[in-house]
Amino acid sequence: MIGAGWAGLAAASELSNRGCRVTLFESAHTPGGRARQVMDPTLGMIDNGQHLLLGAYEETLRLMARDVPKSVWDQAFTRLPLRLCSSDGQFRMSAPAFSPVWLKQALTLWLAKGFTLKDKWLATQLLRHLKSANGVDGEEQTVTRWLQENRQSERLITFLWEPLCLATLNTDIEQASAWLFQRIIFDALLSQDDSATDLLVPALDLTGLWPEHVCQKVSTQFGHTVREVTPLDNGVSIDGQVFEGCVLAIPAHGVTRLFDQSNQQSNPQLFDVLGGFEYRPITTCYVALDAPFALEEPLLMMRHHHGLNACKAPGQWVFDRNRCQPSSATENGRLAFVISDSLAVLAMSQQDLAQSLVSQLAHELGRNLPQGIAASRSFHEKRATFAAIPHQARPNNVSPWQGIVFAGDWTDTGYPSVLEGAVRSGIKATDGLLAQLHAKRH
Ligand SMILES: Cc1cc2nc3c(=O)[nH]c(=O)nc-3n(C[C@H](O)[C@H](O)[C@H](O)COP(=O)(O)OP(=O)(O)OC[C@H]3O[C@@H](n4cnc5c(N)ncnc54)[C@H](O)[C@@H]3O)c2cc1C
Repeated sequence: MIGAGWAGLAAASELSNRGCRVTLFESAHTPGGRARQVMDPTLGMIDNGQHLLLGAYEETLRLMARDVPKSVWDQAFTRLPLRLCSSDGQFRMSAPAFSPVWLKQALTLWLAKGFTLKDKWLATQLLRHLKSANGVDGEEQTVTRWLQENRQSERLITFLWEPLCLATLNTDIEQASAWLFQRIIFDALLSQDDSATDLLVPALDLTGLWPEHVCQKVSTQFGHTVREVTPLDNGVSIDGQVFEGCVLAIPAHGVTRLFDQSNQQSNPQLFDVLGGFEYRPITTCYVALDAPFALEEPLLMMRHHHGLNACKAPGQWVFDRNRCQPSSATENGRLAFVISDSLAVLAMSQQDLAQSLVSQLAHELGRNLPQGIAASRSFHEKRATFAAIPHQARPNNVSPWQGIVFAGDWTDTGYPSVLEGAVRSGIKATDGLLAQLHAKRH
């Protein structure tokens, strides 16, 4: 196994669960990859980025429930029924506690605040259309064009579709893939499973949530950056050590470096695809206030500005970390601001960004925050996700070499770059590898 991100960990978990001996190589000293804990000297244990899971993340939740001790699992998430509210109070949508599911889905939209009756009718039509099309509506195009085709109003786009698209695809709606967006809507908003729309905010740090528990089941080599992978007749050589098989669970842009010229030249198409991804950044800014403060909701949508004005109001979501992580709550306010597709703010200094986000929040809440900023820390993850654009070629899990399979959110999962895609890819890679090894032995 190479790579202890969520894809590699899913593969490691599955392989060890099926009785295989696993050695896991990871460059970093902490498991979790792009979803991992970071110890900050002032703020304590935080994550490299605020993450949000959905009740629809079936495979991720299944593996976590299996691998994590019950005492940890019980306090792993702050689970919230779907509830999207803007910090300026103009928009509010929450799922009522009704069953059956179809009635709950319909009422969620019809009871929303901030839309006209016509908006609600048009959004309902879009969802009905998508449902009858079984989750793939029309040809592949951008999200904007798909929304226009379905006559969605400016308000629906501003308050509902754009925030959801940015949060799940990390790609501007003008560029984002309609099919990938439809997949998320279909699995979450249109699922027959009552809990699929739930928002699951990690209540523990991301490494303690699951990665460290998987690592206890396998042999790990942290701080080992693999430099060379060579397919052999009797297995696979990883930096000179021979294994029966290999799950290569590192980012697409890193795969090329591991193979020599002759392997690259005999598979030009694959290496073109691996080099063909574009990436999008995500910025998370953690802020500790110097006095008590709480939001009315665990998370709120913010009204960010676009383009040149983005630095004035960059925030898209704000999480009240005391409410989301009650076990580590502090007396004073703790907030996490999230900015998807965050190219516009990458050059801002830490202090300017934190100040600008706090001012934006105060403006949208319509009141001054009485508190000052005690400490802040920003993470700019420059390659947070691949750009979820239409017609993006993605390799499947099978590599051209016997005994080597690929895992990673970038493989052809049908999902954008999210944890559930990464985990599913790890499970699929495991199935592929075990089938190959089984066929070889018999
Ligand atoms: C800031 C941020 C916020 C996000 N928010 C969300 C969210 O809210 N919800 C959601 O579902 N998803 C979110 N995502 C996306 C999610 O984190 C990723 O889709 C997922 O973590 C990808 O996992 P992976 O295993 O495919 O890749 P990675 O996590 O990139 O794992 C690859 C691993 O391979 C290791 N590696 C690389 N090269 C080598 C080598 N040569 N030798 C050894 N090891 C190597 C790396 O160190 C890394 O640990 C977010 C991502 C970021 C960055």
